[in-house]
Amino acid sequence: MSKIRDEVLSANSKYTKDFGDKAKLPMPPGRRFAILTCMDARLDPARYAGLAEGDAHVIRNAGGRASDDAIRSLVISYKLLGTREWFVIHHTDCGMQTFTDEIMCNLLRSSLKGASIDASGWHDAGGGGGSTEGDYIKWLTIGKQEPSVLEDVQRIRNHPLVPSDIPIHGYIYDVHSGKLVEVPEACAAGRAKN
Ligand SMILES: [Zn+2]
Repeated sequence: MSKIRDEVLSANSKYTKDFGDKAKLPMPPGRRFAILTCMDARLDPARYAGLAEGDAHVIRNAGGRASDDAIRSLVISYKLLGTREWFVIHHTDCGMQTFTDEIMCNLLRSSLKGASIDASGWHDAGGGGGSTEGDYIKWLTIGKQEPSVLEDVQRIRNHPLVPSDIPIHGYIYDVHSGKLVEVPEACAAGRAKN
């Protein structure tokens, strides 16, 4: 039996005891906005942005990048579920800054096992059984946060399925203070146009 599985199910059991009237929540987000942010375990969008259940959509992936799938979710969020304002929030000390597509592809070619990082970079566990399939994925790594936030806001803004009247805000979450820091160029690029 997995210890983590037991812990999750035990926590869930406690959660359902205080579930209250959340069963009555409507599906569309009550505060009509969405956040695209990184999956980093240190980020808790519900807390850093003051969300309760039913308030907003939170779309998460590695880096909080505007991948095709993130845009798919945002378009559904607007078109079918009524969000009218979006945030792109990357963060300091993101894991996506620690590698490049080339590094990731080489690690995966070496083996599928977990890699480790030290001062000289990433090292694969080895042992064979790797794959070249990683070569066909855009890993959407990050160099510096400001340009990555700007790039993603622009990508969403210019997407043919995104309406021009939805504002898109670009921010960086500081993992040392919890503060959201505006990326002015990104907010300017994401300004709503009528
Ligand atoms: Zn991250």
